[in-house]
Amino acid sequence: MKKLLRQTKVIATIGPATESEEMLEAIIKEGVDVCRINMAHADHNWVREISAKIRSVGKKLNREPAIMMDVKGPEIRTGYLQEEIQLKENDPLDIIFKAQPVPPISDGVWQIEVNYDKLASHLKQGDTILLDNGLIRLIVIESSPKKLRCNVSQDCTLKSRRHVNLPGIETDLPSLTEKDRRDSLVGIECSHDYFALSFTRDGDSIDLFRHFLRQNGSDAQIIAKLEDQQGVSNINEIISASDAIMIARGDLGIECAFEDLPVIQRKTVGACLANGKPVIVATHMLESMIESPVPTRAEISDVANAVFEGADCLMLSGETTTGKQPVECINLLNRVASRIESEITPGLSDELKLFRPKAKMLKSAAMLAMKMKNSAVLVFTRSGDLASKLGALRPNGAPLFAFTDVDGLHRRLRLIWGIEPFLMSFNDDPELTIKHAIEKLKGESWVKEGDQLVTVTNVFAGGKVVESIQLREVE
Ligand code: PEP
Repeated sequence: MKKLLRQTKVIATIGPATESEEMLEAIIKEGVDVCRINMAHADHNWVREISAKIRSVGKKLNREPAIMMDVKGPEIRTGYLQEEIQLKENDPLDIIFKAQPVPPISDGVWQIEVNYDKLASHLKQGDTILLDNGLIRLIVIESSPKKLRCNVSQDCTLKSRRHVNLPGIETDLPSLTEKDRRDSLVGIECSHDYFALSFTRDGDSIDLFRHFLRQNGSDAQIIAKLEDQQGVSNINEIISASDAIMIARGDLGIECAFEDLPVIQRKTVGACLANGKPVIVATHMLESMIESPVPTRAEISDVANAVFEGADCLMLSGETTTGKQPVECINLLNRVASRIESEITPGLSDELKLFRPKAKMLKSAAMLAMKMKNSAVLVFTRSGDLASKLGALRPNGAPLFAFTDVDGLHRRLRLIWGIEPFLMSFNDDPELTIKHAIEKLKGESWVKEGDQLVTVTNVFAGGKVVESIQLREVE
């Protein structure tokens, strides 16, 4: 039986460093499972071109990655500055809701515009505003409808159009912006498999997005990005409403206290495992390798920790968009993930709640495959549900082969821990379907004579279709 490259999956964000056909081929060969398109930096024509390229390279390599469109969500930014400004500790600074003066100073006080005119109604004296990914800290000293007077916490440089974070503050920004809708329509046109919703704050925003996708003819799945304190507070309803969760540590690490971040990560991974929802650990996994040929030792431990915790996926951002060695980064994730997986004591997740009898059967199938040498689970799925549950059981060491006849589901299943998906037509006779699946596995050298396949399938018995677990020896 061929061992899987790793059971933990890898997502690569596509950008200038990986957009060529050669690089896409190289990263897919290296094992990328999902290609992410970040709409904070992509225009529509590029999305169309890159999606077609990913699809054609995937088909050529017989390893089709899923495509995820990551929509930007609501975002507050500071205004355009002709020149950077040097702020000094304790400088007063006014945040205003109309174009800032040029130079941005009035009566000796800095004046900065933001693109959200209701900001002042959500902030009071003593609240914190963070600019430029947390590099600049402002404390509100006076709040009035037309301006917020702040105090600059330390010497810093403010550049044009910087990202604004409001730790712990609830706003009434829309969960799906007009830009998100326009972008998603292009993702739908390109049959993207997943849409990731930035700054998911509650279950309703997922329902709204799902309604939008379905209304526009897409059956894509939705990944909730956990990026702020409101999302953390509503994590249970977000897990129920969404198809997967991304722990987006970039923003989450600004919106929450640093020391809370690992706790949130650990609890969220656990909650996702208990609910059978795939979970992605994202951002800064191998950040130093954007420039450096080797990672920091702390980065290796961070990757290992995510694997130990049981994440379905590890996600690369800058490492594969602008980094100097995207392929090496993926190779490193392969090495660290497979090494750590070999350290995890085989066992099934006790946390997962299984309700349907067929889902409960999966647990026995997974157990059987783990107990026997040279064995794997073979499952047939049309909704993807059984395959997701199987992965969520985390049967360490046993490959999970999932066959589907639904075009697109074979790509979507790439996100799920331990699943190796295949697209194949099913026969009316379940026996023939199993036979063809085993032939395919043999033909692609996944299994060889004498290997055991624990098969979860329907069979005809006494004129009825019944669920069964069977042990099939490869002939
Ligand atoms: C993050 O904040 O970690 C993240 C993945 O989101 P984005 O790249 O959109 O900032």
